[in-house]
Amino acid sequence: MFSVDEIRKDFAILSQKVYGKPLVYFDNAATTQKPNIVLAKIQTAYTTQNGNIHRGVHFLSQKATEEHEAARSVVAQYINASKSSEVIFTRGTTEAINLVATSFGERFCSAGDEIVLSTMEHHSNIVPWQLLAERKSLKLKVIKLTSCGEIDLEHYESLLSERTKIVAVAHVSNVLGTINPIKQMVQIAHQKGIKVLIDGAQAIPHLAVDVQSLDADFYAFSGHKIYAPTGIGVLYGKEDLLNALPPYQGGGEMIDRVSFSGTTYNELPYKFEAGTPDYVGSTALATALGYLTNLGLENVRRHEQTLLAYATERLKEIRGMKIIGTSECKSGVISFLVGDIHPYDVGMLLDKLGIAVRTGHHCAQPLMDSLGIVGTVRVSFAVYNTTAEIDVFIDALKRVVEMLS
Ligand code: PLP
Repeated sequence: MFSVDEIRKDFAILSQKVYGKPLVYFDNAATTQKPNIVLAKIQTAYTTQNGNIHRGVHFLSQKATEEHEAARSVVAQYINASKSSEVIFTRGTTEAINLVATSFGERFCSAGDEIVLSTMEHHSNIVPWQLLAERKSLKLKVIKLTSCGEIDLEHYESLLSERTKIVAVAHVSNVLGTINPIKQMVQIAHQKGIKVLIDGAQAIPHLAVDVQSLDADFYAFSGHKIYAPTGIGVLYGKEDLLNALPPYQGGGEMIDRVSFSGTTYNELPYKFEAGTPDYVGSTALATALGYLTNLGLENVRRHEQTLLAYATERLKEIRGMKIIGTSECKSGVISFLVGDIHPYDVGMLLDKLGIAVRTGHHCAQPLMDSLGIVGTVRVSFAVYNTTAEIDVFIDALKRVVEMLS
C-alpha cells in the first residue's frame, strides 16, 4: 500500500522544526532528502566494506568493487540500458554534460557546425556547449518556447540543418515543470542523422525513463535529485557512440597501459571514469533507486500529480498570482510571481514560517530573459510531500503577500 505517512517516516529530516515551525520542504527540484535506508547504506559501506575499488586483491577492495559494479547494473536496469557498460558514473548531471560536450565536441564537431539547445535549459546544459562553441568556432541555435512554456516543435524542426551535430535538451524543465515531448524530438533529430543528449536531472525522480524506448544517444542525471547522495550521477550513452569518443579526463583506471611513448585506454565504462570513483555514492544511488522501485514509480507519479493539481488550484486563490509555466504536461514544479512582489522577499518570509522554497533565476537566466523577469518563486514536490503541507504553504503565502503588499 502506498502511504505518504509511512513514507515520511523514512525521512528523518522531515520531522524537524525550523524556527519553531514544522519543516515544509518544497525545494525538491534543487535536491531531495534522503531516506534512512540510503543513509544506512552509506554507513554500512564505510563501516564494513571500504576499500578502493578495482585494483585491490584484498577482501575489502573486492567487496567494494562488487558493490560498485552491482550498482551500475541496478542503474542500467532502472533506465533500461541494454548493457551496464553504457552507464558511466559521474559527479552529477553537470559533469555528465561537460563530458559529452568535451569528448563529443572533440571527435565530431568542427568550425561552422551547429548545436541546438532550448530556451528553457539549465546553465549546466548551456555553458558547456558555449565553451565548446568558443573552442571550436561552432554556432549555438536556440529553440523558442510557446506562451505556456512548451518547446515550439515547428521552430525546433526549422533549426535542424546539415551542420547540426547534436541537440541538447531537458527532459523536464526545472523552472516551468514542462515535460518535453522528448521521444518525438529524438525521432525528428534522428531522421536527420543528428544525435541527442537529454538532460534528465528533473525527469528521473518523477518519470519512468527508458533510454532504449526514447532512443536517447546520451541521458544525464544526478543522484541527489532522486533521493541519493550528492557527488554521484550518471551519464548513459549508446555503446558505439561512447566507444567513438576520446576520454574526457586522464588518470588512474581509465587506462589500459601507460608508457612515456604512448598510452592506451581502458574499455567502457572505465575509459570515462578517471580516478577513484564515488563507489559509496554509487551503492547509495542503487539503494535509492531500489527504494523508489519498491514504492512503485506509477504510485509516485500519481501522488505527485495530485500535489501538482491541488497546489495549482489553491495558488489561484491568491490575488495577483501568476504561474509561470502552464503546460498541460507538467511534473511537480510550480514557478510563480505575485503582483510585483520580489520573489526573494516571498522566499525569505516563507522560510521564517518553516517553508523551504527556492527563489531567483534557478540557473536558467536565458529563460528568465525570454520571459522578461528576474526570477520566480518555485515550489517543487517529492514523494513525501502532502496536501496538508500545501495548505500550510498557502496560508503562509497569503500572510506573506498581505505583509508585502
Ligand atoms: N539540469 C537541470 C534541468 C537541473 O535542474 C539541474 C539542477 O538543478 C542540473 C542540470 C544540474 O544538476 P547538478 O547540479 O546536480 O549537476
